[in-house]
Amino acid sequence: MFSHRKIADAQASYEDARYVIFGVPFDGTSSFRRGSRLAPDTIRLAYDNLESFDFQYGVNFPDIPICDLGDLYVEEDAEEVVDDIERSVKHVVDDGKVPIMLGGEHSLTTGLVRNFPGCSMIIIDAHSDFRDEYMGNKFNHACITRRSLEILGPGKIFSIGTRSVSREEYESPEWSKVRFISANEVREKGITRVIEEIERKAGDRIYFSIDMDGIDPSEAPGVGTPEPYGIQSSEVRALINHFAGKIVGFDIVELTPVYDNGNTSMLAARLIQDFIGSKESKA
Ligand code: MN
Ligand code: MN
Repeated sequence: MFSHRKIADAQASYEDARYVIFGVPFDGTSSFRRGSRLAPDTIRLAYDNLESFDFQYGVNFPDIPICDLGDLYVEEDAEEVVDDIERSVKHVVDDGKVPIMLGGEHSLTTGLVRNFPGCSMIIIDAHSDFRDEYMGNKFNHACITRRSLEILGPGKIFSIGTRSVSREEYESPEWSKVRFISANEVREKGITRVIEEIERKAGDRIYFSIDMDGIDPSEAPGVGTPEPYGIQSSEVRALINHFAGKIVGFDIVELTPVYDNGNTSMLAARLIQDFIGSKESKA
């Protein structure tokens, strides 16, 4: 029998599903350490080791209608892949289901966000990803926050864990249109006050994007561009727990398995359960 790996708890058909998981094995614009194209199946493999029941959320995951569509076939050009994600996910959103994308690199998020005009957005990332273009490409992974700003507009995006920014990005007149909350600010204020600020400012529909390098490399070493002094996984979980009821789309990107000791992929798998579990417990 040929195998087609799926998230273990994804046992529903597309028609019945409330959550639609898919992978996008693309890392074509990655600049430093490539390999995030290998992440979708690595996350699925790690997920196999998780319990299907969570006593804290009070949910049994196989009872929740989750489906895994497998991986999207990808072209070589980032813009084409982004367009393809937009088209491929449109019906998922139109059908009122919640898409969960396993990257791949961060550029992919743009394709999904195009299906959520008017939403607010929370991004976990060490990097501002705020270049207008990089290496001559507007669809480079280093431009995703800028592309999202064009789609969602000013005052809608909260990027948390920032600690790597170019001077050009920082001095851009667009900079103040995104609320960059540095990793230091999270440490100084505490995640509760960060949550309170976003709760005041964000709307009722939130897109949530996790670039795994936003989390400290001691917890998430398996990333393409690690940055010291990150935020904690428990802080990301606190954000997910709080906002789950409002989250309409979700992605995990930039996990690079060849640099992982196993912890990053386990954390990514667990974050999927935290999202679905906390969203279900609020439903
Ligand atoms: Mn990023
Ligand atoms: Mn990053």
